[in-house]
Amino acid sequence: MYRPLLQRSSKHLNLSRRYSSNSSVFNWLDPLASNKLFTQEELAIQETANAYCQERMLPRVLDAYRYENYDRKILEEMGEVGLLGATIKGYGCAGVSSIASGLIAREVERVDSGYRSGMSVQSSLVMGGIDKFGTEEQKDRYLPGMAKGKILGAFGLTEPNHGSDPGSMETVAKPHPSKKDYFLISGSKTWITNSPIADVMLVWAKLQSTGKIRGFLIDRAACPPGTLETPDIKNKNGLRASTTGMIQLDECPVPKENMFPSIEGLKGPFTCLNSARYGIAWGTMGALEDCIDRARTYALERKQFKGNPLAKYQLVQKKLVDALTDAAYGILAATQVGRLMDEGRAPPEMISMIKRQNCDRALANARKLQEIFGGNSVSDEYGIGRHVANLFVTQTYEGQSDIHSLILGRAITGIQAFA
Ligand SMILES: Cc1cc2nc3c(=O)[nH]c(=O)nc-3n(C[C@H](O)[C@H](O)[C@H](O)COP(=O)(O)OP(=O)(O)OC[C@H]3O[C@@H](n4cnc5c(N)ncnc54)[C@H](O)[C@@H]3O)c2cc1C
Repeated sequence: MYRPLLQRSSKHLNLSRRYSSNSSVFNWLDPLASNKLFTQEELAIQETANAYCQERMLPRVLDAYRYENYDRKILEEMGEVGLLGATIKGYGCAGVSSIASGLIAREVERVDSGYRSGMSVQSSLVMGGIDKFGTEEQKDRYLPGMAKGKILGAFGLTEPNHGSDPGSMETVAKPHPSKKDYFLISGSKTWITNSPIADVMLVWAKLQSTGKIRGFLIDRAACPPGTLETPDIKNKNGLRASTTGMIQLDECPVPKENMFPSIEGLKGPFTCLNSARYGIAWGTMGALEDCIDRARTYALERKQFKGNPLAKYQLVQKKLVDALTDAAYGILAATQVGRLMDEGRAPPEMISMIKRQNCDRALANARKLQEIFGGNSVSDEYGIGRHVANLFVTQTYEGQSDIHSLILGRAITGIQAFA
């Protein structure tokens, strides 16, 4: 059973045997003994998240994925367990370390990247943005309800004509002609996780008077008819267990008090994205670990040629070894960056490095592991194809891997190669 994070206490620790490493024995479930680097409290939080995800999410994921049927109650349940906005202090949030939040992402994505995406948007992109850049009044208004999963958030940065290059966005906020201290926002955002069900949308738009990007909190309930539409994007071939849509704004009136007061330019959205990208680096390792677990079980059970299990064959073992090695390295790298983040010593390039590397390796290895399932890999019952399709999306969103290469290339050479 799982216990809400806010009620956690060291006397409730019941550390999982699953990952525990005896110092002299190799444990394929924790090959480089990364668990030794986590505190007792972090391990207890991981166990709580693992129990919730395996007991409550896993049984729903096949149908959710098959029918593109995202159950918004999942965010409420996550709120009850304390998984939302977990690193935020106060406002009903758990106030845990960056490592603990990474371990939560790892457990959620072990089930499905779509569920982790829904959580990341709520926690890192919207709640994180409000916590970092919002006024006290905005924090009081949104954070407690969002922590409980009662108010759902979406983050609108990408536009139909501007994805990797959000600085060229066309969405604009101009002064309302008749209402004092109001803006009219017009523009279109696309590929927005949670938008069809969101109560509040953090939309990035250029202020007409300055041309600078600002963040606006748009309450669905306050938008007059015809000024806000959030159509679903259906028939995706990845991340089907999450809901994705557009945000279409047509002279939508938004009060000035809903604008972040001082953050200007791309620093606002990029700061939110940094924290979400860090979570993706952890989450994709959870998805890869699930692929390894499934492929290992399958290889031990499936027999070909003289009744031998597939696991007996060297080529099959190599696929498992490559994947396990990349997952173990990925966890260690994310752990190092998480600790540095909490000390305020993790520049964005570090996060680019682990987001890029962990997404790329998770996708490449998952594709190789899929081969172990032969024809059965094509059936959604085996789960591996779902992870592969999801991991392609994680490599694409929040900065496609090649864009992170350019960020790192600039850091190495001092030369900007974007344009
Ligand atoms: C399921 C899903 C959920 C999403 N959720 C959200 C969300 O909640 N909020 C949000 O704001 N966005 C979201 N996105 C959008 C996502 O962040 C963008 O798709 C991503 O940033 C890439 O932008 P793009 O699709 O416009 O691709 P483009 O920018 O058109 O890029 C296409 C390809 O060209 C490459 N490329 C682009 N420029 C260069 C260059 N200068 N040099 C070399 N290569 C280049 C890219 O690396 C990429 O491979 C989501 C996307 C998906 C698929």
